[in-house]
Amino acid sequence: MRKNIVAGNWKLNTSYQEGIDLAIEISKLVAESGDKNVEVIVSPPFTHIAEINKVVDNDRISIAGQNCATETSGAFTGEISAEILWSAGADYVILGHSERREYYGETNKLLNIKVKKALEFNLTPIYCVGEVLEEREAGKHFDVIKEQLETVLFDLDADDFSKIVIAYEPVWAIGTGKVASPAQAQEVHKFIRDLLADKFGGAAQNTSILYGGSCKPGNAKEIFANTDVDGGLIGGAALKAEDFLAIINAF
Ligand code: PEP
Repeated sequence: MRKNIVAGNWKLNTSYQEGIDLAIEISKLVAESGDKNVEVIVSPPFTHIAEINKVVDNDRISIAGQNCATETSGAFTGEISAEILWSAGADYVILGHSERREYYGETNKLLNIKVKKALEFNLTPIYCVGEVLEEREAGKHFDVIKEQLETVLFDLDADDFSKIVIAYEPVWAIGTGKVASPAQAQEVHKFIRDLLADKFGGAAQNTSILYGGSCKPGNAKEIFANTDVDGGLIGGAALKAEDFLAIINAF
């Protein structure tokens, strides 16, 4: 089902106690702001997930891992499996974030395995796509995004596809303060939905497609107002409970 979603990606930030306190504050502010037609997700470091699952209002706040392994279990030192995330209380997992692609060499081929592994263990993938600046300037952004979608999602069956959330994150807008214009965001989101519809039919109308890249309280409303934008994946502004709440309230 197509939902409005605001997901905070905490990345490599917050000590254990800072993270628990932030989650409690977000949960409190979300509860105080009353019922909204938006699902709220926090994506803390792995070590915080189990405790956050205990201290937040689980009806209002969902939890995402920031990555998962291609493997289920075994001798893979340093990895976190989809099953471990799920057993600790995660509902979602962010996959294909541009920082994972750029700094850890994650390829579309690898991400295809991770997406399937997440689905196998009941996690909803938030699958990130997006072009770097040179690709946009060369007019190649649609080709890049098409490949990221086709190679990672197009061999899923209809049931698995129906669970996927997409995040369009132009890499040039992540953490840079440069935000895509509402028209640029809508153009790419529509392109993504049309491409998904060509492959999966009407089910693509139910896919939540989030925008990510310097989304802040001051620009969220105009970005979320677009027909094919169903919310945001938020980095920097997700680390301040009040800013995060203001973005949630942009719906
Ligand atoms: C992100 O990393 O997913 C992101 C969107 O970051 P920021 O909001 O800080 O640009």
